[in-house]
Amino acid sequence: MADTGPDFRTTRRRFIGGAVAAGVGVAASLEASPLTAQTRGAMKIELPPLPYPDNVLAPYISQNTISFHYGKHHKAYVDNTLKMIAGTELANASLEDVIKAAYGKPDKKGLFNNSAQVWNHTFYWKSLSPKGGGEPGGKLMDRIKTDFGDFAKLKEELGKAAVTQFGSGWAWLVLDGGKLKVEQTANADNPMVAGKTPLLAIDVWEHAYYLDYQNKRPDYVTAVIDKLINWEFAAQNLG
Ligand code: MN
Repeated sequence: MADTGPDFRTTRRRFIGGAVAAGVGVAASLEASPLTAQTRGAMKIELPPLPYPDNVLAPYISQNTISFHYGKHHKAYVDNTLKMIAGTELANASLEDVIKAAYGKPDKKGLFNNSAQVWNHTFYWKSLSPKGGGEPGGKLMDRIKTDFGDFAKLKEELGKAAVTQFGSGWAWLVLDGGKLKVEQTANADNPMVAGKTPLLAIDVWEHAYYLDYQNKRPDYVTAVIDKLINWEFAAQNLG
């Protein structure tokens, strides 16, 4: 899209500035993104404020964990993504479009990993709430009963996906072809790239739980599902 021409180096500074000031362009391109329509609530390539103070998920997720996970890991994914797209044809693209453009391209693996992790983490913080846990109501609960049998079965499947993901990755509740499903993805992978709509995410990278739970990932997963999962957010994503 942006033609930097053969004299890329001398124009680099201008394009880095352009990427920082790309807010308007990002908003405009998000409306045209097919991924955006599936996921609602377009995301900017930025470190957004946490949806709650950093100490309110304790004791299930400590302030210490959040300070590293949000303040260091999530921030690094944002910083890396911005650096990688500065001065490129993706400098003005939406986050969703950057993820889509980088997906499956061997020479853009780093960009995919960082940009998808920006999306995944922003989505993860919203998937949690100090008032979370409990049970969803309304249409979401109806859909859960239709697609899983009952709520206990969904919790069991979500927990199993989170605990059994080998190595770093994510557990998801998604909408796939009109049906609710539980999935797990490795590393930065996100169900959006396969045309699915994420409703909830649980981060099972060790950095999400190791300071609080060490190797006991099942305890972290149980606490998240029983005490923190934001079913209202899932219901909003269901539409
Ligand atoms: Mn993480």
